[in-house]
Amino acid sequence: MPNDDTIAAIATATGYGGIGIVRISGNNLENLLTAILGAQIAPRKASLAKFLDAAGATLDQGIAVYYPQPHSYTGEDVLELQGHGGPAVLRLVLQRCLDCGARLAQPGEFTQRAFLNNKLDLAQAEAVADVIYAGSSSAARSAVRALQGDFSTAVEVLRKKLVGLRMLLEATLDFPEEGVDFLERADGQAQLRDINKQLERVLLAAHQGSVLRDGIAIALVGKPNVGKSSLLNKLAGRDAAIVTDIPGTTRDLVRESIEIEGIPVQLVDTAGLRETNDPIEVLGVSRAWAAAQQADIVLWLAENVDDLPLLRASAAGLPGRKHIFVSNKIDLRCAPPALINGEETHVHLSAKTGAGIDLLHRAVLSKINWNPASEGVFSARERHLRALKEARFHVLSAVDTWGSIELVAEELRLAQHHLASITGEFAPDDLLGEIFSKFCVGK
Ligand code: GDP
Repeated sequence: MPNDDTIAAIATATGYGGIGIVRISGNNLENLLTAILGAQIAPRKASLAKFLDAAGATLDQGIAVYYPQPHSYTGEDVLELQGHGGPAVLRLVLQRCLDCGARLAQPGEFTQRAFLNNKLDLAQAEAVADVIYAGSSSAARSAVRALQGDFSTAVEVLRKKLVGLRMLLEATLDFPEEGVDFLERADGQAQLRDINKQLERVLLAAHQGSVLRDGIAIALVGKPNVGKSSLLNKLAGRDAAIVTDIPGTTRDLVRESIEIEGIPVQLVDTAGLRETNDPIEVLGVSRAWAAAQQADIVLWLAENVDDLPLLRASAAGLPGRKHIFVSNKIDLRCAPPALINGEETHVHLSAKTGAGIDLLHRAVLSKINWNPASEGVFSARERHLRALKEARFHVLSAVDTWGSIELVAEELRLAQHHLASITGEFAPDDLLGEIFSKFCVGK
């Protein structure tokens, strides 16, 4: 994307609303501003204005705000035209901007310019999209923390410590006589251990953040009539799936979005697994398998222990997934709810009375290593986790090779490189393209 021209886009969501905003960014907006508003306006002040067409007729009226560079979202001149929130009127205003020389912005182009003009680092720019697309209030909070720079600061603190230690190592290599002394006096080994500990903490917070951002998928699988739909309804807190005592009622997938401790969860109720000649049910059963294969966690539901061997065998056929065996209808057996964590995880509950649902929540959270005390979670992506894990690998290699200063120095150089990739110090164009193309137009 070239970034020396003027871009414009409707910044508000498509549809009807009280206010609709057209946003324009470029290196010199004075002419465009005068053409559309008929006069200059005071910077950074809300000005009541008419948005004019080429003949001077009013297209809409509303509030105009002008942010001259560099104090704007993109770091360029930015003009916001806040008019009425209808698609037709907004299109008129946008078209007027295009007629005045702007071009339509690509998805994420405003934020990309903010990144290129050092208004945000890459992790913060990614957090902008994460705030917008957050699937739960906790996910939104953690994305805002990342946007405010909590994640970037944590990474930067680590990076600075690495740089400090690397300087010590380089000095040791440059002045071999006194060098080892430098390192010992500064207790380089303790510094490395401290870096390693801090890296673990950042990785844990980032892991939690990525769970919040991406959410998890849970599939409910088992024979007909074991209570899968009832459990989905209980977890969702509403009658999303039809419950009857007629086997084979759920033939297709029923999806429901819920939250467990603020984590967005996509629940999928599946057709009961059984041999059947009904062609629709056969299709439903094969979709059930597909859903189980795609889920992060599979809940294998049974009514009694006789069903367990079959469910175990089925679970063994899905090695990459996490499994919880749920024994339902404890109310009929007058059994207490229970969570049994061993080689397998078992939860005894009643989808009808709700007894044991809290234990199921606990089992799910422990399967994804959720740490409820993680207050300072910031949203993170797979890309960030990979970079942090690479950095950890090199820091641990440095710990292992402490005797050889050259090797330690090289390992720490690589660790620093991976950390810097998070904030975008070394970000190849194709990575930037991939990140910003996932944004909405106008952001
Ligand atoms: P599915 O075919 O596995 O989805 O099972 P359903 O959720 O449709 O339930 C089948 C039958 O079992 C219905 O009559 C439910 O009311 C009943 N049922 C489900 N869960 C429980 C439970 O925990 N206790 C009791 N007593 N009945 C249940």
